[in-house]
Amino acid sequence: MHAELEALMRLQTIDGETAQLRAEIAALPKRLAALEANLQAEKTAVEQAVKALKDEEALRRRMESDLKDQQQKIAKFRKQMSSVKTNEQYRAFQHEIEFAETEIRKIEDRELESMERTEQLEQKRKAAESELKDSTRAVEIEKEDARAASAEQQKRLEELTRRRGEERAAVPEELLTVYDRVAGGRGTGVAYAQGQRCLGCHIGLRPQMWNQIRAGEVLTCESCGRLLFYDASREPQPEAEPEKPKRGRRAPEAGVE
Ligand SMILES: [Zn+2]
Repeated sequence: MHAELEALMRLQTIDGETAQLRAEIAALPKRLAALEANLQAEKTAVEQAVKALKDEEALRRRMESDLKDQQQKIAKFRKQMSSVKTNEQYRAFQHEIEFAETEIRKIEDRELESMERTEQLEQKRKAAESELKDSTRAVEIEKEDARAASAEQQKRLEELTRRRGEERAAVPEELLTVYDRVAGGRGTGVAYAQGQRCLGCHIGLRPQMWNQIRAGEVLTCESCGRLLFYDASREPQPEAEPEKPKRGRRAPEAGVE
């Protein structure tokens, strides 16, 4: 087995883990930002419900004031009615009073509707407040977890960086250059050569190249450029290959299975 290529294989595993870890580390602030945005939306929902309640109360105060106006009008008409001279005048006041009474009933109906809306808004506000409370708590827990995870991730990253340095120190500069260049473009820079194929791109290798690799030469795949690593233990065992041996051999052992 080729020690340098073996080191590159380990380096590749470390580089893969490092990339994944960095992605996890980068994803965390985004997730927290999304949680914060959600929290902000819930705060807004509470504020909106509170404002709608205030508006509704203001509306009812105006209705109350209108109601009083109408009542005062009626009182005034009644007073004036006592001193009218003609039936016509009397009926005119009566008509005004009826009109004002109709207005009062309309205002009272609108007040009832407003009270119903207030009741619904009150429920909405309570629900929004309770949701906000739960979310605030969830975000706090999430942040706490994130802080712990972040410390853990930094420790792992340091460990990976240390191991990466060790593995790279064991590989000659020219191999590292090839590895870094191909890994930079394709994600991985070394691939197993197995069954006369490059497992990086699954292209078949020419017989001569396959022989050279098996003889211990370090070559790159003509298709993807990855360094090819041959590991004899990964090839199918030669004795396992004979044609249809199973039936004949297994029969006597059938009882064991
Ligand atoms: Zn390849």
